[in-house]
Amino acid sequence: MVMLSDRSEVLLPLTKQMAKVISKEFIEQLLQEIPDPEIPVISIVDLGIVRSVILENEKVIINITPTYSGCPAMMAIQKDIVARLKDEGIEHVEVNLVHDEVWTTDWINDAAKERLREYGIAPPEKSSPDKNLLTGKRSAVTCPRCGSIETSLISQFGSTACKALYRCESCREPFDYFKCH
Ligand SMILES: [Zn+2]
Repeated sequence: MVMLSDRSEVLLPLTKQMAKVISKEFIEQLLQEIPDPEIPVISIVDLGIVRSVILENEKVIINITPTYSGCPAMMAIQKDIVARLKDEGIEHVEVNLVHDEVWTTDWINDAAKERLREYGIAPPEKSSPDKNLLTGKRSAVTCPRCGSIETSLISQFGSTACKALYRCESCREPFDYFKCH
């Protein structure tokens, strides 16, 4: 996680108590508990979209980068962050969308990719936009169930716009593939 501020903790006014010293680590732990709205097995931190946590006087600022513009999940994520911090009595929260860098599936950490696979979603294989998906040619997407690479694209859009629907030719099971960006 990128840290933009030198301050590691700050005194925040809370609803439940008068005030409490809140550390950056505490905020980061709370964020780690917030699942991606579409994929409950990975958190928004795993996804790599939380760019920085900044503690200012009496305020927490959290900068996130959208997975891609127009992804409706971002609104839900902003609300989830505010709600989770409010649960802890932290009311002064600002969630900003930052677009200085374009999110790529490379930002998803390896542990989260493994959890995706266990969940039945093939994790993104490479960072560049998947040309095979665009041209409709066979792609080297590995089946998350049996590990076969004999897989075919069925639809550009799986259960959500962020995923494509594949079928494994070995075990014949359909599965979602987390598309590369
Ligand atoms: Zn399979």
